[in-house]
Amino acid sequence: STLYRVDGWGPPYFAVNSSGNISIRPHGKETMPSQEIDLLEIAKKVTEPVSSGGLGLCPPFIVRFPEMLKHRLESLQSAFDSAIASQGYGAHYQGVFPVKCNQDRFIIEDIVKFGSPFRFGLEAGSKPELLLAMHCLCKGSPEALLVCNGFKDAEYISLALIARKLAFNTVVVFEQEEELDLVIELSKKLDIRPVVGVRAKLRTRHSGHYGSTSGEKGKFGLTTTQILHIVKKLEQEGMLDCLQLLHFHIGSQIPTTAVVADGVSEAAQIYCELVRLGANMRVVDIGGGLGIDYDGSKASDSDVSVSYTLEEYTETVVKTLRSICDKRSVTHPVISSESGRATVSHHTVLIFEVFNSSSRDSNAAESSLLEQQRFLDGLRADARAEYMNLFSAAMRGDNNTCLHHANQLKQHCIRQFKQGALSIEQLAAVDGLHLMVSKAASEPSSLPVHTYRMNLSIFTSIPNYWGTGHLFPIMPIHRLDQRPTMRGMLSDLTCDSDGKLATYIGGESSLPLHELDGNKNGHYYLGLFLGGAYEEAQGQIHNLFGAPNVVRVESEADNPGGFIMTSALLGPNSGDLLQAMRHEPKAMVEAFRRRAEELGAVGGNQDGLVTEALAGGLARFVSSWPYLMATSTWGMP
Ligand code: PLP
Repeated sequence: STLYRVDGWGPPYFAVNSSGNISIRPHGKETMPSQEIDLLEIAKKVTEPVSSGGLGLCPPFIVRFPEMLKHRLESLQSAFDSAIASQGYGAHYQGVFPVKCNQDRFIIEDIVKFGSPFRFGLEAGSKPELLLAMHCLCKGSPEALLVCNGFKDAEYISLALIARKLAFNTVVVFEQEEELDLVIELSKKLDIRPVVGVRAKLRTRHSGHYGSTSGEKGKFGLTTTQILHIVKKLEQEGMLDCLQLLHFHIGSQIPTTAVVADGVSEAAQIYCELVRLGANMRVVDIGGGLGIDYDGSKASDSDVSVSYTLEEYTETVVKTLRSICDKRSVTHPVISSESGRATVSHHTVLIFEVFNSSSRDSNAAESSLLEQQRFLDGLRADARAEYMNLFSAAMRGDNNTCLHHANQLKQHCIRQFKQGALSIEQLAAVDGLHLMVSKAASEPSSLPVHTYRMNLSIFTSIPNYWGTGHLFPIMPIHRLDQRPTMRGMLSDLTCDSDGKLATYIGGESSLPLHELDGNKNGHYYLGLFLGGAYEEAQGQIHNLFGAPNVVRVESEADNPGGFIMTSALLGPNSGDLLQAMRHEPKAMVEAFRRRAEELGAVGGNQDGLVTEALAGGLARFVSSWPYLMATSTWGMP
């Protein structure tokens, strides 16, 4: 587990069990090993044919753990509750989930259900997001906030105003000054008294991966001049009592609590000023930014880590707000936050399979030492000298020197090959020998790097790696009791040269991996962890790969270690994606069939094969998959 830093990023949900597999603790607690769910068992049940009791789905697939989601929400709430109690803060916390982070209906429904006892609400950033948020909040707490952010046109604002009429606790947050006139005009027309907020463009910014959102040059929010203008206009319209919320967001993955304190103090001062100016202020919404420790380093200078705990974050927020409001004799506001990443990242694991690697060729070369010798005996002088040095180091059992001479030998031979002085068989023999020596030297970082081909599209499933260089923990979910003997660079199925993972957590350019054929059951499953936020929402359709299927897994109450698959939701298939690009898959199949008939391609011996390829293969793309709702229970073997 040290190789993949599981002890750093895994707790309290992921660990390595005694079988060498990843185990899941859906309730986020240290449990008895027998109560943990084995991720490999889940992968087996998902992939096993339906006739053997499985779901018959192929990787890649997403496994979701709703119990983890519940634990995340409760942890966030209880961390704020404790900070509020311990600091004698005079108001409560009620958070909202920014749906843009992952709009999956079942995730949003779960968040509303799990968060309803503590008035947890939703944040929308566009009209469709507002629609889905309203629909999901029908089953939520009536006090839950529905925060409307993002750029707004008349339609968006009308919908947000009507939502108030439908008894949703909607707040329209101004991102631009123009929205004010629309709200004034439409609220009069619809005869609705709105509740509004302002999004402040803070001067505070952070230097991390997503810090450019904030600061004076940030894209979002209102300057102090604009806020003052809005206050004045609302006052003129007799609507200053409608202004009740101050919002800010200084960017995702805030690296330190010092930056949190800085942002919250600046916002608290603006809040107090708004109170002084006569607004009916009630809520400070501190936005998102609560970070995730993706690389397990807890280092503030890592782009994908943060140096604080959840408790330290909430204490900083509460303490800073309390101290400024007390100094200004302002009643403590309700605290809201829009934590996306910190809410949904953990509960989703993307499982994919590696189905071949470039190491197979090398294994073949390695297997035939005699063959290698036949070619290597004919090397030119300098290469031959290294070859002899290598042998004498091997006789002494000096692995490091062996590796040194093997590297030298390889370099000499590559040069000679380029000059036309070496045959392709000789070069292959040198590669084989070099691989053998590297493995024997067994220094994981010095192992040759092989390309491992994964059945995944980075553009669909890890778009932020491609778009922003975001790193996630990626590792095998089994065979963790065996020392990896290879280093691999994961390459995807798309025909795009960007479709590869060239950097891994810790800045490594390859991942320690196992040999594919050293595995008894033939499958080599890898998991991408902590990827529940943003990746699915932003995935592209490059190469028209469909989205992975999703399986929801819960622990079985009276069977420790057992699990229940509550549903399997099939993702869009290639037919859906062809349609999204305005092709007509059904018409395509028909056209191919006609063409095949005209050309006589469906006669004779190949009749069955051709028909299957056209009518069978393609028709499968276009059949519309129903949601497969399966409720099946499996215990541990
Ligand atoms: N709120 C707003 C306005 C955002 O732009 C974002 C994302 O950047 C969030 C909340 C969620 O941030 P995070 O996922 O870092 O919690």
